[in-house]
Amino acid sequence: MSDKTEHPELPQAFAALGVRNSVLKGLAELGYITPSEIQSLLIPKALTGVDLLGQARTGTGKTAAFGIPILCGAEKGRGVQALILTPTRELAVQVDEEIRRIAKHTPIRCISVYGGQKIRGDIIALETNPEIVVGTPGRVIDLLDRRMLWLDDIRFMVLDEVDRMLDIGFRDDIRNILTRLKGMRQESGEANSSGAPQGHQTIFVSATFTEEIERLARRYMREPVEKLVAPGADDKPTVENVEQGYYSVQPWDKYRLLRALLKQEQPDLAIVFCRTKHGAEKLANSLTHDGISCREIHGNLRQSKRDQVMKGFKHGKFDVLVATDLASRGIDVAGISHIINYDAPEDPEVYVHRIGRTARMGAGGKAFTFITREQGDELTRIENMINMIIPPLTIDGFEHRQPPEQRGAPVAPPPVAAEPTVSPKNGMRLGAKMPLRRRRR
Ligand code: AMP
Repeated sequence: MSDKTEHPELPQAFAALGVRNSVLKGLAELGYITPSEIQSLLIPKALTGVDLLGQARTGTGKTAAFGIPILCGAEKGRGVQALILTPTRELAVQVDEEIRRIAKHTPIRCISVYGGQKIRGDIIALETNPEIVVGTPGRVIDLLDRRMLWLDDIRFMVLDEVDRMLDIGFRDDIRNILTRLKGMRQESGEANSSGAPQGHQTIFVSATFTEEIERLARRYMREPVEKLVAPGADDKPTVENVEQGYYSVQPWDKYRLLRALLKQEQPDLAIVFCRTKHGAEKLANSLTHDGISCREIHGNLRQSKRDQVMKGFKHGKFDVLVATDLASRGIDVAGISHIINYDAPEDPEVYVHRIGRTARMGAGGKAFTFITREQGDELTRIENMINMIIPPLTIDGFEHRQPPEQRGAPVAPPPVAAEPTVSPKNGMRLGAKMPLRRRRR
């Protein structure tokens, strides 16, 4: 086959937004034909140079929405021109990878820097003179303090997941970095360089913008700031594409239930969420021992190991990833078919974040949650937040057992007195939107 026939056609819909040819080639190779809603809104505006607040749901192509204009504006060999801050290491890696893929046919280089690994590696990476740096705030400050990273040439300043970035814990770090930028407005609203025009464009993107976060973000931006909201971004978190259900289970039966569920579902790619690092470790060990192809990701692992696990997961090297919330934030892997909340989250927002790992870019997915007798309130809070009833499910042939110390006594009734059981097979659409009513538990 000749070379020519192998080149996919350049995506005209992106060309119409003003995207350069070399970037279009990367997009074509990735199979990005149509811009997502946030991309259609953000790319042309960003190319005009105004400061932007972009709001869109997780998994709707935000990375490319800010990455593409940066790649169109960056110039080879002119120093670090874009700094992208992310709240977690995993997200930094992911954003870096996405930008590198899109940049494949451009001369622009992107690197990621984050804590938890030797700073020497970052220094070597910076010596390659990248034009784009993606990083977590702590490591970026460290590199700035060591004078390994300079912000003199910055033309694009991006904060990803700005709602988390401006969370109390990060505010000082963000202020520290942003106020080092030339011409950056101080929090008082005064320009810090004798009113000189700002030398860079600021883009803040997020799934949500509370009033407070927006007010804070605007302090670092140059008016007139354009706020772009992708249709549906303001809705309650959308989890409608995800089939959802819960299983009533006692703590001592959870592992058996998980095994039965994995056997029933045969997931292509599943994430099993645990509340603690230790729990995740133990569970992954048991699954591995029982011959299930799985890995674990949590804060007890070295960063290099975490990166390696994520890479393996992306490439489908194993089927089940056992994860804690922190380590999984920002995980964006196409084709995650199942989310299993082995430990139900206490915070309903965490539930939405977890199940948002599946059903990316409009694809479907399933989310199952294990609920113990004590967790009825947690379930109700989740249901209130997503404005849906999550139906109870059972697995054919799965029997609840007595606590280990009472084995031999008659079997107790199911732990959570639930409404009539529906199983995914009986045709009812799980998690269908319906008015909330009191659940009898
Ligand atoms: P993000 O919201 O940036 O995490 O992106 C979610 C997923 O959508 C990622 O796997 C991207 O590679 C993918 N993606 C982003 N833009 C497009 C597009 N225009 N067409 C198809 N896939 C896309």
